[in-house]
Amino acid sequence: MSITSKDVKILKNYINGEWKSSSSPYTLEVPNPATDELLTSVPVSTRDDVDLAVSAAKAAFEKWKRVPVPKRARLLFKYHTLLTDHHVELAKLIVKENGKAYKEAYGEVQRGIECVEFAAGAPTLMMGETLSGIAEDIDSEMFRYPLGVIGGITPFNFPMMVPLWMFPLAISCGNTFVLKPSERTPMLANRLAELFSDAGAPPGVLNVVHGAHDVVNGLLEHKDVAAISFVGSQAVAKYVYERAAAEGKRVQALSGAKNHHIVMPDADVDKAVSHIISSTFGSAGQRCMACSAVVVVGNNDRFLEALAKKADELIIGNGMDDEVLLTPVIRKEHREKVLGYIDKGIQEGAKLIRDGRKEMKDHPQGNFLGPTIFDRVTPEMTIAKDEIFAPVLSLLRARDLDEGLEYIKKSRYGNGATIYTNNARAVRQFREEADAGMLGINVGVPATMAFFPFSGWKDSFYGDLHVNGKDGLNFYTRKKMITSRYEV
Ligand code: NAD
Repeated sequence: MSITSKDVKILKNYINGEWKSSSSPYTLEVPNPATDELLTSVPVSTRDDVDLAVSAAKAAFEKWKRVPVPKRARLLFKYHTLLTDHHVELAKLIVKENGKAYKEAYGEVQRGIECVEFAAGAPTLMMGETLSGIAEDIDSEMFRYPLGVIGGITPFNFPMMVPLWMFPLAISCGNTFVLKPSERTPMLANRLAELFSDAGAPPGVLNVVHGAHDVVNGLLEHKDVAAISFVGSQAVAKYVYERAAAEGKRVQALSGAKNHHIVMPDADVDKAVSHIISSTFGSAGQRCMACSAVVVVGNNDRFLEALAKKADELIIGNGMDDEVLLTPVIRKEHREKVLGYIDKGIQEGAKLIRDGRKEMKDHPQGNFLGPTIFDRVTPEMTIAKDEIFAPVLSLLRARDLDEGLEYIKKSRYGNGATIYTNNARAVRQFREEADAGMLGINVGVPATMAFFPFSGWKDSFYGDLHVNGKDGLNFYTRKKMITSRYEV
């Protein structure tokens, strides 16, 4: 934490429809991960800033919840148009602050826009249920209502998509929102708020408070916050879940991952390699659905050779340059942690078959690390167990599908898993037995779209209702049951 010099712009919070400086003098620098250029500074906001935002959201809720649902949906339609008009600008901003490749960023904006499309369906989504004649002259009806002020806390790796998993649906359901974006990618959140205001959002309906754990704790402990949506790393997700639940709040906390891809002997090698390369090394391995462990069933030298060859051919560089696939990790400190994992993998006896450290010297600026692959990894090794969140791949060997599925079961995480095969029996066994919530059949990144829940299992998720789809709707609404008697 530092105090920013006068010539660097400090981001403002967005509270009650106005851009406000934080009450804190402390800031964190936001460098471009590919060039080290200082982009801006983000304030480390205080609980006073959180109080201001929550009271604005609380006051706005009283009016917003009474706005007819179709009218609320119309705000989302306008927002959709604006986001679509600014698609390229938003994608470029993601590349700048997050470092991922432009193509990935463009896709991320599209995923975010789809969440707005889903949220614009609020009039249909929010319909209740009725049953006449549950007893003599008695009918039952269910209506949906919003909860109040929702706090959203988001990670660095999807600065557009993850906030849009949350606030469009929460707001179209009639809630108001306080967003705490990642302090490592905070710029896009302000642009999202600006465009939301341009779309006609009333003051206080969406607020943005920048900062770190003080803002998070301020939201978790605030009596006027009804629910918390969190996405981030495992230890923080568990903490957020426990703390918010202890405060009596509804909470969904999406967490870390270790996604296994099983390559069956009959897999189409070229296609499997191409999916695995882009899933493992795209976005520098910093996707919660990234492949980080490949389970090779049987001896498959052709697969191993093709994988090594493709990894060697990967173009490393700034995400704004065409053809680049492997971009930098988010911060130098994160890369240091990853280098520690590489040392640990060697110490624990895994075979380093491709050492991405050698590419670091070709990129003196930025936080680059070349594609790194370990073979002969066993499920007990640290590199097999921990989420490394970087372009580091572990290869595990399995006798058969049963053993591969056992590896997935052993993992504490259960976000995603994929199988590469055209064998229907193997597919069915995988679907029935893989111990993870989002499965891919010949799909490298089986992330669900806005209409379905993002349904991680085990330590990849804490809570009951996931983000998106009907789970998201149920999370952001509460039900009221009416039992009425009119004697006919
Ligand atoms: P992170 O946990 O460091 O940060 C997430 C948020 O929590 C940020 O807003 C941050 O300010 C806040 N935070 C961090 N430490 C905190 C603390 N001690 N107390 C209170 N708040 C704290 O996560 P990240 O590095 O930004 O994001 C990457 C992680 O997010 C990975 O583990 C990835 O798997 C996970 N992720 C999961 C999903 C999913 O759907 N399961 C999606 C995207 C990212």
